[in-house]
Amino acid sequence: MRVRVAGLALAMAFQSGCVSSEQHHPLASDAVIDAAEHSPLNPFAVSGRWNKPFAPFTIIGNIHYVGTEGVSAFLITTPKGHILIDGILAQSVPQIIANIQALGFDIRDVKFLLNSHAHIDHAGGLAGLQRASGAKMVASAGDRPTLEAGAIGFGPTKGMAFPPVRVDRVIADGGTVSLGGTTLTAHLTPGHTQGCTTWSMSVRGADGAPHTAVFHCSTTVAGQALVPESWPGMVAAYRASFAKLRDMKADILLAPHDDFFDLEARRARQIAGDANAFVDPGALGLLNDDMEKAFEAELERQKKQAG
Ligand SMILES: [Zn+2]
Repeated sequence: MRVRVAGLALAMAFQSGCVSSEQHHPLASDAVIDAAEHSPLNPFAVSGRWNKPFAPFTIIGNIHYVGTEGVSAFLITTPKGHILIDGILAQSVPQIIANIQALGFDIRDVKFLLNSHAHIDHAGGLAGLQRASGAKMVASAGDRPTLEAGAIGFGPTKGMAFPPVRVDRVIADGGTVSLGGTTLTAHLTPGHTQGCTTWSMSVRGADGAPHTAVFHCSTTVAGQALVPESWPGMVAAYRASFAKLRDMKADILLAPHDDFFDLEARRARQIAGDANAFVDPGALGLLNDDMEKAFEAELERQKKQAG
């Protein structure tokens, strides 16, 4: 009987296009996820307020903020389930789940997990969130190896391991994730990591007005080596991403760290009564210009230093 059941399961796996049932198993064990969740915060996390609680709130329409004070997590709700962008740290998972619940939603209804980029402060909690939700992880080919290894091979966070997360679907540039009437589009903006992914979606405000929200990946250098390049093609990738982001049209800028999109100030304006506090057609262009200038200055500095 046991043999027959196993055979049936295998036949079903082949029918549904799976190579092996292994690929549905988590990459991190419960013990690894639990240990990471309870481990002390590193100095970067403390100084960056990566795990400092922040009261969750609705940004606009079906887009909600469920992150910490220093690092973002965005919940996009639909009648068919939800989409969660970014997992912050492994230690942040209980906060994110509680924030989702405080807004009246349930982590178990999250169907898709997306990621801006595979650094520990945005990817560390993904394995724990995947365990809690059973959601499918969608990521770019460029960041998939880092997500599935639970470690990046370069930059200031090299050596800071996080629970590896199983990637269920690889998304290409222009690829979409659709659920319950909402569609998110992936825009590959590599540089900060090889697979850095900016997402965009249409959203309506309380007044019914249509908007385009962009979830910026980040194009900061963040202490990474540009000379020599941390990975082949890194400088050209940054420059192509600045050009691509310059051409994007979005009137709501959201980003992985609070200071990139004035989280606290805009939230304060919203509490004071401005329902469109996060609507700002100039914000994406300004952020892109600032990051591009900072990148070119840092590249020059590293070139001089290298002699
Ligand atoms: Zn980063």
